[in-house]
Amino acid sequence: MNGWPDESSYQLELLKSIYNSPVTIAVLDRHGVVLDFNHDPYETFGCSKTDMLGRRFAEWLDEESYHDAVQAFRRTLAGKPGTQSVRIVNKAGGHVDLNANLAPLSNEGEIVGVVVFMQDISEHKRSLNRIHYMAYYDDMTGLPNRRFFTSRLEEKLVESYRDGTLLAVCYLDVDRFKLVNASYGRDSGDMLLLQIAERLTRFFPDPGSLARMEGDEFAGLLTDVKSAEEVASRMDELMRLFEAPFELGSVPLHVSVSIGVMIGQGLEEDGATLLKKADAALYRAKENGRNDYQLYTSDFEHQALHKLTLQHEMMNALQNGEFLLHYQPQYDLATGRIVGLEALVRWMHPERGLVPPGEFIPAAEDSGIIVPLGDWVLQEACRQNKEWQDAGMTPIPVSVNLSFRQFTQRNLIGKIAGVLRQTGLDPSYLKLEITESMTMDVERALSFLRELRELGVGISIDDFGTGYSSFHYLSNFPIGSLKIDRSFVRDIDGNANNAAIVAAIIAMAHNLQLQVIAEGVETIEQVRFLQQHGCDEMQGYFGSPPLPGHGIVQLLDKDESAWPAS
Ligand code: C2E
Ligand code: MG
Ligand code: MG
Repeated sequence: MNGWPDESSYQLELLKSIYNSPVTIAVLDRHGVVLDFNHDPYETFGCSKTDMLGRRFAEWLDEESYHDAVQAFRRTLAGKPGTQSVRIVNKAGGHVDLNANLAPLSNEGEIVGVVVFMQDISEHKRSLNRIHYMAYYDDMTGLPNRRFFTSRLEEKLVESYRDGTLLAVCYLDVDRFKLVNASYGRDSGDMLLLQIAERLTRFFPDPGSLARMEGDEFAGLLTDVKSAEEVASRMDELMRLFEAPFELGSVPLHVSVSIGVMIGQGLEEDGATLLKKADAALYRAKENGRNDYQLYTSDFEHQALHKLTLQHEMMNALQNGEFLLHYQPQYDLATGRIVGLEALVRWMHPERGLVPPGEFIPAAEDSGIIVPLGDWVLQEACRQNKEWQDAGMTPIPVSVNLSFRQFTQRNLIGKIAGVLRQTGLDPSYLKLEITESMTMDVERALSFLRELRELGVGISIDDFGTGYSSFHYLSNFPIGSLKIDRSFVRDIDGNANNAAIVAAIIAMAHNLQLQVIAEGVETIEQVRFLQQHGCDEMQGYFGSPPLPGHGIVQLLDKDESAWPAS
């Protein structure tokens, strides 16, 4: 060896240098008893060298690494050294992860003990755990994420196949969560998600059976299920979890959820497919009006296809002029006179005949076709109303329904002003019907409604009572009237509760200087009730169904007698 007098003094120096290095080295006898340490191992074991001498090394081993560590020790004694990661419990009770290299110690050819070289890898382990956590958990709620859930689902599928049970994947989405964010701010949105996660954890207590997929979407897993009926009754239970309000700050907030459910059985479909189908069912639940669950059925795919066809047909229909408007009269409840008309779109399908809006408006909303269609409705309603006025009919306002998509267009005010200018209709003869959900984004709604008012266009809230009730904000909005939803009006006579709601809405609205119009009025009893409670106007089959333009002309020609005999 260069610079050393001989080989053995080189080896001696090398040993010294190793012995003095920061690596912790322990020498154990054949029974695992500590014979020596190269220094006081305070950092790892929390005690001095003298504390440790004469004691069994295994005393410090964590229960879980005990078995493997002993095996590695035995192998080393048998002449097969190796590396073993162990966890020790130090004097203070803390855990320290070590990477231990074991080497046999021989004396005159006989293995008399083991030398253990230890390296503290706790920090490394912690960062591995952090990476694992980030990859498999959602930061905000601490719930497993999509990746975790999907792999868990695969395992559970195999188990359910083995046990011959069913399994249900539930895909859950918070209804109108975006509007909560928009109205209350993102922090409140996060707070709401945390509270929802907490309620859901109570329902899906098994570790890994609940995940936050993204945004306001969660997925849950029901295992060991016997029948579809059982799944349905569990879903009823789940929906009931959302009956009690949540609390944002000190404001109680009612939130509903929609859930899509796919029942899995055997190994026919993998986890990803089950999730996709649960998602499709969720989509359907949303379409059907939210706040409900929907079990997946195979005809969804046909329906999706049907919808695509429908969207394609609607584009053509718009170009071919297949849409038309019907108008439903609105009556003053005190005088019985027609004081307004609601424009309701119809589709004259070349094969299917007259299609009601319930069958195509949702698809038009989804595809965005509602925007050009809505433009057409607005244009046509204004044009027709102006034409009637020019023909000498008593001027009355026409109401046009605005859909959510239209409402979010940036240039909407400009469009409306343009249509009024172009058709020559006085703005006071146009009313727009918006829904409660549009008022949730308070800022946007306020500025839009103010601009509309400046234009001179009337505003009413359609289907009032069915949506998110921001009555508090409503008082600040420049709105002209509320339309009480027909579901309340329908059983005024039969349901004392509904009667009370209708009476209360009328009183409240009047307090806020708003006009009230009841929709879906069909019977004389309903008319009487509304009159007694001072409701201003009504619309419904009792007066007249929606009619094509020429039907309206005939009705208005009769003028005063428009009110049916009462
Ligand atoms: P809506 O705005 O609440 O319209 C009232 C609906 O109630 C109309 O259904 C009308 O025919 C129906 N109706 C009227 N009187 C009675 C009654 O006495 N009893 C019952 N059971 N129903 C009555 P329609 O025409 O099928 O329209 C359904 C919905 O489609 C409308 O509800 C509205 O949300 C939407 N819609 C219709 N036309 C348009 C449109 O041009 N644009 C947009 N965005 N939506 C529209
Ligand atoms: Mg309406
Ligand atoms: Mg309505």
